[in-house]
Amino acid sequence: MEKNLDTLWHSILSEMETQLSRANFATWLKNSRLADEKEGTLFVVLPNNFAKEWVENKYQKNLLGAARNFDDSVKKLEFLVSGQKLDLAPRKVSATDFNKFENKINLEFQTDPETNLNPRYTLNSFVVGSSNELAFSAASAIVQNVGSKYNPFFVYGGVGLGKTHLIQAIGNEIKAHYRGKIKSKYVSSEKFTSDVVWAIRNRRMEDIKKKYRDVDVLIIDDIQFIGGKEKTEEEFFHTFNTLYENNKQIIISSDRPPQSIPTLEERLRSRFEGGLIADIVYPEYEMRTAIIKGKLQESNRELGDAAIDLIARKVKKNVRELEGILNKILFHQEMRGAPVTEKVVEEIIEKAAQNFTRRVNDSQIIKSVAEFYNVSVGDLEGHVRKKEIVEPRQIAMYLLRDMLDMSYPYIGEKLGKDHTTAIHAVKKIDQEIERNSLLNQKIISIKELIFRA
Ligand code: ADP
Ligand code: MG
Repeated sequence: MEKNLDTLWHSILSEMETQLSRANFATWLKNSRLADEKEGTLFVVLPNNFAKEWVENKYQKNLLGAARNFDDSVKKLEFLVSGQKLDLAPRKVSATDFNKFENKINLEFQTDPETNLNPRYTLNSFVVGSSNELAFSAASAIVQNVGSKYNPFFVYGGVGLGKTHLIQAIGNEIKAHYRGKIKSKYVSSEKFTSDVVWAIRNRRMEDIKKKYRDVDVLIIDDIQFIGGKEKTEEEFFHTFNTLYENNKQIIISSDRPPQSIPTLEERLRSRFEGGLIADIVYPEYEMRTAIIKGKLQESNRELGDAAIDLIARKVKKNVRELEGILNKILFHQEMRGAPVTEKVVEEIIEKAAQNFTRRVNDSQIIKSVAEFYNVSVGDLEGHVRKKEIVEPRQIAMYLLRDMLDMSYPYIGEKLGKDHTTAIHAVKKIDQEIERNSLLNQKIISIKELIFRA
């Protein structure tokens, strides 16, 4: 659509001039201009934040009405402050943009390949409250008395409550405190399992023994995943014994206490119970506030007190979720170039809560795609080859994969195609979203339908 932006804006303003008092018009709109037009969105630039807030709140409707008088393809307006770069405007913000933002925040920290520890996890940055006090003091004591005080140390608690942070922090502190003379190694139990499986298959059990028994501090995360895998448990048990007999420190985390891991061998369980077991529970309000403030400081960013309070009041059960929401809010703020309003904070929290609690299923997804494209569910699920079914079907496949992580054969079967078609469709949509903001917008709208269903 080739159009002269200045002419369009001039027409809109002359219309506005008839609606507003002369003083208001001069104060708020005179120094505005139109920076761009994209897919029905007009990007309006105002001289400062104050004018932007004002116009956005008071005159948005009138402006949109006026704009549509001249061009009925206009769907909405976005307001920017002059000097703000256009490519930072809240156009179509994709998941990829957000991921880049989050990566930027975490980028300074890189996992040490020798120890597998991420230096971002320290005892210093671990906020302590009644929910994790015992676990924290045990951790601090272990740093001073490696292998002798609390051995093994078993920490358990729900998802996102800081287990990984705490046990990695012990490794990092030990490394700093003893200047690398005491060797730590961190491993997830999945990695441990896959190492053992690899070693068995390749007859390299000696490598594994050396790798894990040649350390002073072995940190194993999420041990509940080892339970039930016989060969892995066996190897872990031997590793455990060897280390333990040599007064090496063993640190273990789990999502539940040892007696609640049903498949865990009895002898391993009693070993764990011979050391110190500490749990971590949900953080209280003060702690949630402190965690938010800590994260802000860490990433060198700012957020208003009201927003901090709102997040701390509403996000209660998972520190990881708390961080995720905080990052989304900071992202929003940076895109806008202005402090967030409470309303936006509330919206972001609400959306996240919906994603967390509402359970989405496959028929909901297919139904919503059909609704969005105004086609029938039967057509989507059947073998029809109509042209108008191609895009909806590909998007349904993409969403089944993206939201539910379903297998390709299942997706194919569900939508009347084979698994290679499903793979192709998912890949295609995945790539196209990056370039095609209209498609991205469609997917966002369909997701809204899904969550509303
Ligand atoms: P878990 O391993 O229990 O699932 P994590 O250790 O991965 O949880 O914690 C999730 C996120 O929350 C991490 O980014 C971690 O830094 C942060 N976090 C959790 N508890 C705290 C705390 N007490 N102080 C600071 N950050 C915390
Ligand atoms: Mg963890």
